[in-house]
Amino acid sequence: MKTAATLWREVFLHISAKLRRSVNLMEVCGSHSMAVARSGLRALLPDNVKLLSGPGCPVCVSASSFIDRTILLNRRGVKTAVFGDLLKIPGSLGKLRDENGLLVIYSPEEALEFARRHPHTETVLAAVGFEPTAAVGAAVLDSAVREGLTNFSVLCDFKHLRPVLDELASDPKTALSGFLLPGHVGSIIGVSGYRNLSLPGVVSGFEPENILYSLKMLLEMIADGECSVKNNYPQLVAEEGNRTALQLIDRYFTAADGEWRGLGMVPGGCWKIRDEYAAFDAACKYDLKVETPAGAPSGCRCGEILRGYLTPEECPLFGSACTPENPVGSCMVSSEGACAAAYHYRQVAI
Ligand code: SF4
Repeated sequence: MKTAATLWREVFLHISAKLRRSVNLMEVCGSHSMAVARSGLRALLPDNVKLLSGPGCPVCVSASSFIDRTILLNRRGVKTAVFGDLLKIPGSLGKLRDENGLLVIYSPEEALEFARRHPHTETVLAAVGFEPTAAVGAAVLDSAVREGLTNFSVLCDFKHLRPVLDELASDPKTALSGFLLPGHVGSIIGVSGYRNLSLPGVVSGFEPENILYSLKMLLEMIADGECSVKNNYPQLVAEEGNRTALQLIDRYFTAADGEWRGLGMVPGGCWKIRDEYAAFDAACKYDLKVETPAGAPSGCRCGEILRGYLTPEECPLFGSACTPENPVGSCMVSSEGACAAAYHYRQVAI
């Protein structure tokens, strides 16, 4: 009897014969990068189909300047709450793991709760993430505003995914043919938030079978010359998304130009706290001017990997000078970074 792997391989070979050309696909989500690497499913794809990793790991794309400003806040005695994933990310002032007194949190609510319990302590949530975390950040801001907390603010580095998808779709160097779209972000922005991309896309969940089926759908669309967005994660993603979350995001944030590590300044690529809530915006409340030099650590190719120009294995430092124990760049730091995923699961075979 044929194994599932053999059957999937045959399915992809059948579609690839219809394609009659090479295609580059991109998974735009750190959770997808990790699931793809862990399951070894790239090995099932035909030679003319390449699945690249994109800039969908929020820790990987957190700007150096954001790390520097977080360090500055902490050094000034402000109780600064950070996600544990950020601790090893390099900024020009160092790494957060080398700072004393940080409040390491798992969810934004923990920072708010700390501020409530310590009304005389200035507390800042240093917040990163895409729309799902931005929605939680907006809910936390909503509570702080309603409660009139004066000792709580947010240093905001929430990322707006859609502008980057449009940028990647039009990059001739990557020459993408389609996107495996993040289900988590889709649960907030809905399928409608991905509509009118210039390339086909499939909103996908994270189980290997779901990803394989999403890739099949995507390749069939490409083979048929169809450019639309399909939903292969309907259990979590609705057409219009999560209206409550979208309203909260819209109430407290506005899309603004912002820096993505490795990609540079992205027009409309970040969520900024609206001016009317400036009292809760740490970037307005504190003087956080810092000269952060541009560019990646020496030899690091994260920017090219996040754009799909290179695979992690093509970086000369991969697995030698750069490992998860001694990461050089952000893509090797986060558990969902493309380089970390490729390193941890480099020997996985289906
Ligand atoms: S392997 Fe390390 S140095 Fe190379 S791109 Fe990835 S994170 Fe940067």
